[in-house]
Amino acid sequence: AKNSGGNQYVFVSNEISSAASEQSEIEAHMRAAFKDGGFEVYYQPQYSMNGYLCGFEALLRLRHPSMGLIGPDRFIPIAEECGLIVRIGNWVIEEVFRQAAEWKRQGLPAIRIALNVSPLQLMRADFSVRVRDALSAYRMDPEMLEIEITETTVMHNLEEVAKQMLDLAAVGVRFSVDDFGTGYSSLRHLHQLPITTLKIDQSFVQNICEDSSTREIVQAILSLAHSLGMQVIAEGVEREDQVELLRSMNCDQLQGFLWGRPQPADRVPALMSAQVRK
Ligand code: C2E
Ligand code: CA
Ligand code: CA
Ligand code: CA
Repeated sequence: AKNSGGNQYVFVSNEISSAASEQSEIEAHMRAAFKDGGFEVYYQPQYSMNGYLCGFEALLRLRHPSMGLIGPDRFIPIAEECGLIVRIGNWVIEEVFRQAAEWKRQGLPAIRIALNVSPLQLMRADFSVRVRDALSAYRMDPEMLEIEITETTVMHNLEEVAKQMLDLAAVGVRFSVDDFGTGYSSLRHLHQLPITTLKIDQSFVQNICEDSSTREIVQAILSLAHSLGMQVIAEGVEREDQVELLRSMNCDQLQGFLWGRPQPADRVPALMSAQVRK
């Protein structure tokens, strides 16, 4: 018992060094993944409130031989830190457009796909040109592309970000604000940007049935968005009572485990041809 202080220190120090070695293992694995194919894009369906398929959000995963399928919350921050994020973001753009072209070739109806981009991508002066080049290379209709940004992205470097966004909006690309309500954006700034959709963060959706102040916040977001001509997607919908409530509040679309988890690309054609939630 007398040694417990010392042991505790050893324990903490091991924790730190194992976290550091996990981090460098993930970094090394990401570097290798570009040629060995370790990145995989999953697709999560988005539905209208009455169950019609409206689109998919592309969500990146990293497959590791011993760690299994690693989620983006674990590797994206590392990628942003070690400077790999732009390369990864470019890979995602290519992969998703290639996949969309493949689905089109198979005769499936065109469907909107939402991509997550890091602020570090959107702040680059060549971002919009890169996206436009990829759109034409894969003959993808710009209106089928939605780019998800966060409030922090917008606030980071408003002028450069606005320039990139306006350039893409001019050809028909749509933009949504992800995790809306959790950041510090000013509405005055958001209003200057070509935003078509707000995504209500899942932390609100989780409490919406139990907590009346959460409900009021969501109602306020919905009224505001609709008065600005924007659509609203509720994220992280897991229960039927949440669907009922969001429907009664005039929410436009939903995304969540209840109606569809993120899944590998080969599961998407069945969802697309069904068109309604199964
Ligand atoms: P996000 O953009 O907010 O994505 C939604 C996250 O919520 C996804 O986690 C999704 O799997 C999860 N989710 C969806 N429905 C439910 C639900 O009903 N309940 C719960 N508990 N969770 C739900 P995921 O796939 O782990 O992604 C985490 C984050 O990683 C994303 O959050 C996004 O910020 C980031 N991310 C994903 N793909 C990319 C990418 O290609 N590039 C960049 N820069 N970031 C990405
Ligand atoms: Ca997102
Ligand atoms: Ca989100
Ligand atoms: Ca999030």
